[in-house]
Amino acid sequence: MSDVVEPNKNTGGRVLALTGGVGGAKLARGLAGVLSGSQLTIAANTADDFDYWGLRICPDLDSVMYALADLNDDVRGWGLKDESWRAGIAMRRLGGDEWFQIGDQDVATHIFRSQMLARGASLLDVTEKLCAGLGIAPSLVPMSEDKVATKVNTDLGWLDFQEYFVRDQCEPEVRGLAFEGIESADLHPAIVEILEADDLDAIIICPSNPFVSVDPILSLQGCRALLEAATAPIIAVSPIIAGRAVKGPAAKMMRELAMPASALAVASYYGDLLDGYVLDELDADYASDVAALGIEVCIAPTMMTDVDSKVRLAEIVLDFAAGITTRQ
Ligand code: GDP
Repeated sequence: MSDVVEPNKNTGGRVLALTGGVGGAKLARGLAGVLSGSQLTIAANTADDFDYWGLRICPDLDSVMYALADLNDDVRGWGLKDESWRAGIAMRRLGGDEWFQIGDQDVATHIFRSQMLARGASLLDVTEKLCAGLGIAPSLVPMSEDKVATKVNTDLGWLDFQEYFVRDQCEPEVRGLAFEGIESADLHPAIVEILEADDLDAIIICPSNPFVSVDPILSLQGCRALLEAATAPIIAVSPIIAGRAVKGPAAKMMRELAMPASALAVASYYGDLLDGYVLDELDADYASDVAALGIEVCIAPTMMTDVDSKVRLAEIVLDFAAGITTRQ
């Protein structure tokens, strides 16, 4: 067990972070404050992606991108800060769809992406271009170039992810999840290359929703096998603090999927995949239970409220990873 923070042992090796939107974006921003751009690759979930107003929307890629550029709205938890909403008002006047909110600045991202995709660019090309435009140094990579779509089985029947998440505000009871297209979707070659690299120091599963943000990435063809074969330690940061999700439906989903809503249950869910697990200080009592799963434990303040707390947690996670020398 390690709860003592030592000076950061950045060896210059590479780090791969697997992430969804909100929680993942916060830690990604922290990691970007500690590592150089060439060291850090962030692989984002794209199973939430969908089409709206005729545009391709990639919510998790955008959340990470805006957070890395310090342009995200921390209070709302999604989208850009200093946003205005006149496009949505105009769309309502025309009788167009209005259940998903798109800000006036944000719409430029979706037009830019949709235009490039229509001209034949890959999602990675588009993401690189958007990141370059926003002055972002780390590599942000979509989990796959293939389309995968999360479907939520609820008491109201099967729903598309954004219908469940945004339109119905996570109110329906979740009975199960499916990732349409996953059987023929490949892990992005840019992520495969990093997982096979000799200079990979750590793989970090960000504090993202395990079921709808991390599972789609882990379910891609070849992903689990590559993670198991990687020599770098795999560390997850708990997205659950004291039995609650900081934002979003993770805790509610756990209860509905017949699991306790706890940081320990997330560690058990990832199970053998993990070498290390970061528990919040409020969940220190679970340390021995997590250790009993054969997973090393680090206890840290994991609530990220500003850039300093994001960077501080990133330093702790990297130091923890550097101290794990043997893969389980
Ligand atoms: P989504 O794709 O937009 O749902 O974003 P994520 O899956 O990346 O993030 C949702 C998860 O992030 C939720 O389970 C939250 O509890 C978790 N989360 C958000 N902020 C924090 C934080 O500051 N600390 C921790 N530990 N978890 C957080």
